[in-house]
Order: sequence, then C-alpha cells, then structure tokens
Amino acid sequence: SSQAKIIDGNAIAKEIRTSLSKSIEELHAQAPTFHPPHLVILQLGSSPASTTYIRMKLKAAEESGMTVQHIKVESDDESGEPKGTGVKKVLELVRHANADEKVSGILVQLPLEGAGKAEEKSVVDSVSVSKDVDGFHPENIGLLTSRISEPYFTPCTPAGVIKLIESTGFDLAGSSAVVLGRSDIVGTPVCALLRKKDATVTQCHSRTKNLEDIVRSADVVIAAIGQAEFVRGEWLKPGAIVIDVGTNYIPDASKKSGQRLVGDVHYESASKVASYITPVPGGVGPMTVAMLMHNTFEAAKRTWSTRRER
Ligand code: NDP
Repeated sequence: SSQAKIIDGNAIAKEIRTSLSKSIEELHAQAPTFHPPHLVILQLGSSPASTTYIRMKLKAAEESGMTVQHIKVESDDESGEPKGTGVKKVLELVRHANADEKVSGILVQLPLEGAGKAEEKSVVDSVSVSKDVDGFHPENIGLLTSRISEPYFTPCTPAGVIKLIESTGFDLAGSSAVVLGRSDIVGTPVCALLRKKDATVTQCHSRTKNLEDIVRSADVVIAAIGQAEFVRGEWLKPGAIVIDVGTNYIPDASKKSGQRLVGDVHYESASKVASYITPVPGGVGPMTVAMLMHNTFEAAKRTWSTRRER
C-alpha cells in the first residue's frame, strides 16, 4: 500500500504569516495613515492550556508584523473577590477595546476560568462584530451559514481546515465531505464553509449510527471530536483526504512529560489509505493561529478604509 502525503500546516501557516507581514509593510509604505493591525487578547485566570495558546498567538502576531496586547484578569479564585467579579472586569475591558479606534481585533481566550457557559456567551456576544476576529459572534455565525452573505470574519480553525484542503489542489465542488463533530467553534462552521465550497456535507456526532459506513463514503474527512485516535484507516475510502482537528493527550512513558499529543485520527493506519493527511501536531493547530492573524489584518484594513471615507 502507498503512503499518504503529509499536509504541512506549519509550513503553510508560516507562508501566511510572512505574506501578511509583507502586505502590512507595503500598505503602510503606500498609505502612511494605515497603521499595523493591533490585536487585544483577554484572558481570565491562568490555566496552562490558555497560557500556551496565547503565547503562540503573541509570537505569530509579532511574526506577522502586528502589535498585540495581552491583558490578564485574575479569576475570582485567584483574587478572592466575590463570584462574577472577573467576568465583569473582562466585559469592561471588551467595552473599552470596542470603543478604542486603535484596536483592530479583540480575542477573548476561552474558556473563561470560573465562568459558566451563559457568562461566557455574554462576553463573546459583547465583542463588536467588526472586531470579532475569532468569528464567534452570533451575527457572524448567522452570516456564515447564510446562502447569500459573507461573515465579517470566518472562524479561524474552520478557515484553516479549508486552506489545508485547498493546498492539495483538490476541488471540493461536488465532492462528498464528512465532518465528525457539531460544536459551534469547529464542526458546525466547518460544515458551513464546505457547503459554500459546493461540497455535499454529512455531519456526524455522538448519536450518529453506522459512523464507519458514512466515513467510508467520504472524499474528505474532517475529524473534530476530541477522541484520541478514534478514526481508523480501515474506515476510509482509499485516496480520501483526512483533516485531523483533534488535540488529545495520551499517556506515553517514553516522553519526559509522560504524555503525547495525538489527533482524533489513528495516524498510522489512516496514512496507509488516505491520499493526504494532516499530522498532529503541525497540521490544523498552526493554521488556526495564522487565520487569526489574517482576520486581524482584514479588520485593520476595514477600519482604515471606513475612517478614510468619513
Ligand atoms: P466539543 O467537545 O465541543 O465537540 C465534540 C463533538 O464531537 C461533539 O459534537 C460530539 O457530539 C462529537 N463526538 C464526541 N464523541 C464522538 C464520537 N465517539 N463519535 C462521533 N462524534 C463524537 O469539541 P470541539 O469541537 O471544541 O473540539 C474538537 C477537537 O478539536 C478537540 O480535540 C479540540 O481540542 C480540538 N480543537 C483543536 C483546535 C486547533 O486549533 N487545532 C481548535 C479547536 C478545537 P455531541 O454533539 O453529540 O456531543
């Protein structure tokens, strides 16, 4: 059997960052009133996972020629303040950043430590649609799923998934795409984007029956379920394109940390059947961060041109 080609998310993401940095420099040289995009990242609490993701975003922003400000608010547990204080502070910071003309994009790092789902939603909803570079605002979600309109911003992970598929030269139009997962941040927006690209989309979730048979019908499989090495090579149609969004840690005694990062796809068996496959790490992860930078540049260009028209 043959071996699938690896879709190198690290390399594609780096190209995007380099090209952004060049575009920003060129635009600023042509039009001195255009300033490099400015991203504000808000964090509530100090979970190691969030801190790691934010560090990657700070580094990518710098490489893309943007400025970025990371504002950290202590969680209620950390500060000893009454419950809800941290969320109120984050809301206040969002309002401030919404009103600040120098801010191009606002990213609220989720989850908000100590906050419930409803509070989290109230914070996400409070970000101005025109600065919602994560693409999570309900108005952006509505526009994304609409047949005739485009959102202000496309959610970053789903946008990265599409770029990775397109990097293979595969034509999505008329193809059969199977998406595993129905979350608001990955599965569902991925389906919306694939539909816009004229794929025929099947969306699966934890209640789906005969999952293996459905996967076997797919020209493109996107796995976003958070289940380590769940999708097996034996399930795939020979030559399928496999995009693995999952990030799962499994025990591995051979590693210093005692654990290893794997995707939702069993890489070894899948890479014997697929034509193209994304590795974990080094596939979707870096693309998510690159698309955030892309969105922040779009935001900055848009504010700049509206200001010029005023
Ligand atoms: P959620 O937990 O919000 O959603 C998981 C989805 O998978 C749900 O719709 C669930 O179904 C479905 N599901 C769970 N188990 C199964 C199963 N056995 N068979 C079929 N469907 C199943 O996860 P997210 O969408 O937020 O994230 C998915 C994965 O992607 C995670 O590993 C996450 O870490 C990773 N991720 C990676 C990113 C990156 O940049 N690389 C960015 C975001 C996420 P149901 O709705 O029925 O419960």
